[in-house]
Amino acid sequence: MSLLYLGVMERVSQVRHQSNAYYVRDISFCPYCHNHIAANYQSSFFEINKESDALLDLITIWQCPNPECFKYIFAKYVAHRHVNGDQAEFVGFLDGTPELDKWPKVIVELNSRFIKIYEQSLIAEFKGLDEIAGMGFRKAIEFLVKDWAIKEKPEDRDKIISFTLNEVVNSYFKDELKAILLRATWLGNDQSHYQKLFEEYDVSDLKELIGLIISDLDKQERTKHWINSVESRKNKPSK
Ligand SMILES: [Zn+2]
Repeated sequence: MSLLYLGVMERVSQVRHQSNAYYVRDISFCPYCHNHIAANYQSSFFEINKESDALLDLITIWQCPNPECFKYIFAKYVAHRHVNGDQAEFVGFLDGTPELDKWPKVIVELNSRFIKIYEQSLIAEFKGLDEIAGMGFRKAIEFLVKDWAIKEKPEDRDKIISFTLNEVVNSYFKDELKAILLRATWLGNDQSHYQKLFEEYDVSDLKELIGLIISDLDKQERTKHWINSVESRKNKPSK
């Protein structure tokens, strides 16, 4: 194994198997501490690719150089078995977790189980458990919507809890946000039901809608804050 520099700034390492050499792009992200790193190569193993005799799975082991982490990182690549000098394609990490989103203040302060459920769904997706990830994102939307509605109308708490997700969206949200929430609910329900109504959409579309909802709620709250704070200054009696 040696370090090579191919192309612009792309660090590549060579892995040898029998008489062939393969190149793997160095690991530059740690799935444990989530820092951008130049991982130190340790070792590699080869496995037969289950889908094709012409392919070879490369299981590589690296170490994170961050002294507060030092974790061993397992990354999988796939190469063309009979092509000497082939650039192997990165498949994914075999362990660790994805980098989690940074939530706007309003979402953190909502103190909803939404964040926990969303992050568990993200981990399920990272590990290739796409069937349950979708259901998890659907559950996350329900907690976000209901907790937000309760924050806005605490006197309706019991009613909001007993309502279906659809009923809460229809009763407590309006305009574009309502339209996006309804679509997220439809796609989310699709992830939980036997038959899909929206075949062309998947978990990544659902995540994109959740991202839109979060930025809309954030914008709405910050807008409210600025309107109220500047207004209250203006209404103070002048000296
Ligand atoms: Zn690390």
